[in-house]
Amino acid sequence: MAGPSDRSPQRVPPVRTCVGCRQRAAKSSLLRLVVAGNVIVPDPAARLPGRGVYLHPSRECLELAQRRRALVRALRVSGPLDTTGLETARDWA
Ligand SMILES: [Zn+2]
Repeated sequence: MAGPSDRSPQRVPPVRTCVGCRQRAAKSSLLRLVVAGNVIVPDPAARLPGRGVYLHPSRECLELAQRRRALVRALRVSGPLDTTGLETARDWA
């Protein structure tokens, strides 16, 4: 039995909210997206600078986010976003 003095860290994984379905999920199960200008870029390695949002890697959540203009709001951009890069990303189911 591992007690409180056990040295192995059992940290709670970080949780983020999907901008599509608004459900909270483990950060590792979500795809990070960043905006470069007005272009949405998938950032699976979470290395790109700038404001990022998290989305389930599913077309359903992407469509939900687009329909609600959630990406525009979350990323605080004024114009229409180019999500072409997402449509063709291999990560999408
Ligand atoms: Zn989702």
